[in-house]
Amino acid sequence: PRTPDAAHAPDTAHAPDAAHTALPAATPVGYPRIGPDRELKKAEEAYWSGRIDRAEFAQRIRALRDATRSRLAELGLTGPAAIPETFSLYDQVLDAALAVGIVPDRFADVLGADGTIDLDGYFALARGTAEQPPLEMTKWFDTNYHYLVPEIGPDTDLHIASTQVIDLFRESLEAGAGAGAGAGAGAAARPVLVGPLTLLLLAKAQDGAPADFDPLDRLDDVVSVYAELLARLHEAGATWVQLDEPALAADQRVDPQGLAALLERAEGRLASAEDRPQILVTTPYGGIGDLLPAVLATGVEAVHLDLTRGEIPSAAQLAGIGRTRIVAGLVEGRSVWRTELPTAAARLALLRERVAEAAGDPSGVVVSTSVSLQHVPHTLERETHLPAELRATLAFADEKIAEIVALAGSSITPGSVDGPRSVPRDFAGVRRSEVRERAAGLTAADLERSAFEVRGAAQQSRLGLPVLPTTTIGSFPQVASVRRARADHRAGRIDATAYEQAMREEIRRVVALQEELGLDVLVHGEPERNDMVQYFAEHLDGFATTAHGWVQSYGSRCTRPSILFGDVSRPVPITVGWSAYAQSLTDKPVKGMLTGPVTILAWSFVRDDQSLGETADQVALALRDEIADLETAGIGIVQVDEPALRELLPLRASDQDDYLRWSVDSFRLATSGAADATQIHTHLCYSEFNEVVDAIDALGADVTSIEAARSRGEILEALDPERFSRGIGPGVWDIHSPRVPAAEEIRSQLAAALDRVGEGRLWANPDCGLKTRGYEETTESLRHLVEAARAVREQA
Ligand code: GLN
Ligand code: ZN
Repeated sequence: PRTPDAAHAPDTAHAPDAAHTALPAATPVGYPRIGPDRELKKAEEAYWSGRIDRAEFAQRIRALRDATRSRLAELGLTGPAAIPETFSLYDQVLDAALAVGIVPDRFADVLGADGTIDLDGYFALARGTAEQPPLEMTKWFDTNYHYLVPEIGPDTDLHIASTQVIDLFRESLEAGAGAGAGAGAGAAARPVLVGPLTLLLLAKAQDGAPADFDPLDRLDDVVSVYAELLARLHEAGATWVQLDEPALAADQRVDPQGLAALLERAEGRLASAEDRPQILVTTPYGGIGDLLPAVLATGVEAVHLDLTRGEIPSAAQLAGIGRTRIVAGLVEGRSVWRTELPTAAARLALLRERVAEAAGDPSGVVVSTSVSLQHVPHTLERETHLPAELRATLAFADEKIAEIVALAGSSITPGSVDGPRSVPRDFAGVRRSEVRERAAGLTAADLERSAFEVRGAAQQSRLGLPVLPTTTIGSFPQVASVRRARADHRAGRIDATAYEQAMREEIRRVVALQEELGLDVLVHGEPERNDMVQYFAEHLDGFATTAHGWVQSYGSRCTRPSILFGDVSRPVPITVGWSAYAQSLTDKPVKGMLTGPVTILAWSFVRDDQSLGETADQVALALRDEIADLETAGIGIVQVDEPALRELLPLRASDQDDYLRWSVDSFRLATSGAADATQIHTHLCYSEFNEVVDAIDALGADVTSIEAARSRGEILEALDPERFSRGIGPGVWDIHSPRVPAAEEIRSQLAAALDRVGEGRLWANPDCGLKTRGYEETTESLRHLVEAARAVREQA
């Protein structure tokens, strides 16, 4: 192992030894990988459907990576290790898991005889097979990106099961050589892997592991495989490797002292090896505060800090810096707003001073982004339709790279003249006095309804629902004809009347089907919605829509978040016509369907010139008006979906109370104008119910439906009437899978829930909306659901 002195020797002392090449002055943490035209998605869908073979798939993916490398070089990322190789075919956590052989026993057969995984095996883990459901998917920190949860056991055979990280590095060398002199050395990428600590903190114990097993028990074994990977990267000529450790920016089941010790066993051990590239540890998604000394103590050559959420480190925190480079995440990587460059330059200067004081070497600061740019669209270049005033305030991935390159250069100083940072206040729609005056006039009474019991009685006498009422979450399968009609309407191929007719026809079909199935509370099916947030963004003032602003949600799935830049208001009713039409077709109650303020914010890019709470209240007031109009139109039940409530929960416990206060208040503001006899529902999914059960209770909805099919035990526990007192519908059909649950299976789930919850509070419903399902399995599953509810009702 190297002595600390050798590890910290100045880069120049070893020049031109490649192993001591310095990092470039500017480099991002990561870059989008879907491609500006969603090339990744298109190639994957073509491959999965059998339209192209493996060779063509490989060729298309290679072309995407080549184009990405050229683009990044063009943007100024030149020189060795300037480009982080963050390409992934599906997910970076899955990639790291496979790099070290974390393959659950249930997927043992996807490994070849030599213990490696091939393309189809990789997709099997990501997407499931006929026999095995895929790895569970969950949100990556407080973002809308989903990763696959690795499953590990005490006996998982850890070894290099995928050499992708090495192969991609070799490819970058080869691509650089092909590009001719000059570009050659510059093209060698910086390999990137999720680090060992984060990987195991995000992993879960595989089924059948002993109850006291913690994935962290395998840390030393996992680190051994990382060491082997690093040695092989070194042998291939890599000068740097990046290990992402975002887990350090969030509260963990291990306390900070414990984390410091784990860091020493992970990065500390890797840094002590001889044959390895230099190591950059990144800590995106928040500040790591007093963990910095522990990261520095590991002896890695560079440490990245998210300085948009975290503070510039203090002299004390930097005391042990030695020759370690600080990679300063000064440019916000997850918003679409441009950086106030002079302010960032001033912070950079302060950081340089502190580093110089601590290390005696002021040149050691590299400029970077706070997080990977995977959360923003590729480029603003093609968004030519946006108003110039708005466009001037925006920066997507490519523009943010230009920002870090500019900051690292000498042209920007703390005193430089800067462009606009937020949309000018006098730009149309940014500040609407009627919205602001209304928000300013709100009082506590606007968040209150009458007592739950009083409302309950009024609702029961109006609705007359049976014990254990049956319903769905809102959307019905989006058949091709519906999607076609929406697209034709958008493209102007059909007029408003023809479009309306097509939607009405679908609503008629969906209502008739629900009546035939015998459901108690019906929905209109949401055929008019492309997406539960975008639909509202398009109908509310204050939002702009991008043409190509796609962001990866997971694997091949992308969303095109709207940009909330101005004060939000509702020019005309949005959903009332559709819901009223559905209600006109039936005597059963039809449930109106809205998306809640927190979810609208979470799945959009939101202005940051005012607090999120203020913006949420504006959205809430628009929804409040919508609910009033639904009531006037005769709708007696309104569901306000908040599936993202858990997602925005801050990563640090100390920040959570404030978040829960404004988010819960915005829901209450949206719904508290409803009459007693109007039943308010909410729906939450991807919610670890237990963690936020008090907040969910505080929403005050009369009925809450939750995703539960995949975590039944935990949910039953949380349904304790002491903790949660209102109507509840734990999902009894997992709509994320095409499997049709048998009536008996649903019946026994309902019976167990009824035991726990008691009569009068329990509802029977699927897990989530049915948008992605087909009609065949939907009809059959709902038939079983109604049958099961009736059977339980008879026994009750
Ligand atoms: N009402 C929405 C639907 O049924 C809810 C979707 C969601 O929870 N993600 O599609
Ligand atoms: Zn849902």
